[in-house]
Amino acid sequence: MKTLKIAIQKSGRLNEKSVELLKNCGLNFENYKSSLISPVSNFPLEILFLRDDDIPEYVQDGIADLGIVGENVIQETEVKVSYLQRLGFGKCSLKIAIPNHSDISSLAGLNGKAIATTYPVILKKYLVGHKIESDIRTISGSVEISPGLGLSDAICDLVSTGGTLKSNGLKAFADVMNSEAVLIGREGSENDDLIQELIQRIQSVLRAKETKYVVLNAPKENLKDVLALLPGVKSPSVVPLAEDGWVAVHTVIPERDFWDRISQLKQAGAQGIVVMPIEKIIL
Ligand code: ATP
Ligand code: MG
Repeated sequence: MKTLKIAIQKSGRLNEKSVELLKNCGLNFENYKSSLISPVSNFPLEILFLRDDDIPEYVQDGIADLGIVGENVIQETEVKVSYLQRLGFGKCSLKIAIPNHSDISSLAGLNGKAIATTYPVILKKYLVGHKIESDIRTISGSVEISPGLGLSDAICDLVSTGGTLKSNGLKAFADVMNSEAVLIGREGSENDDLIQELIQRIQSVLRAKETKYVVLNAPKENLKDVLALLPGVKSPSVVPLAEDGWVAVHTVIPERDFWDRISQLKQAGAQGIVVMPIEKIIL
């Protein structure tokens, strides 16, 4: 039987979540920090631990079948790969930022200015798309200190909370792209049976993450109101309680509706509300 290879980041912002996702998919492997490759004992898969910059090319060239990497890295390396699944972690945006006291006040104001970045390819496309000609200064790191050192008038860098910009006296000025971690494969690899199985496992974990299992007690006479608030995956299960006139309702609700629904359910007479995490949802 063939063995697939999946490349994930060896260390850094995406490593922990990538390992957690694969483990939640029921894959058994040792997360040795020192080794480059780790076999999975209960699925024909090997995990390659790499620098994130190398992942898109390894997948394009077939050294790895799959990869987990930020969209920003894929766009910057301009490889041809298939996006198989968005993964919902590693969210950030690539933004142009300027010093708080800069006199640049519109995009056109970036004409002729120097912008420091580690993402010259994406930035160039953005500027060309907006008909702006700036001097792109490609540097390999610590982009945020370059305006303070007089090396650039603006920067283009990844931002998640904005804390790094703030502590360097910078403010976000324009959004270039939004990014999150994605599962990629070689072009056409989405048709492979083993890859399909892995994608389905990943999807069942992602679905479960977005939902909660809720059990609550309600007086039978309020059941209609309570059910109206609970659009479950299918319809909720209603079980009679030992105490006359009461029922237990079991259902699955999206996390995003959660707090809203809980207070409305209480108002509708629900009691003893128990909320549980779900491990997997297989449709
Ligand atoms: P490597 O050593 O693997 O090359 P790196 O230093 O290039 O690592 P990290 O800083 O670990 O990369 O970031 C990995 C990815 O995490 C980024 O490419 C991006 O997709 C995502 N990310 C999420 N939030 C942020 C953020 N605030 N700053 C930078 N990257 C972020
Ligand atoms: Mg990197």
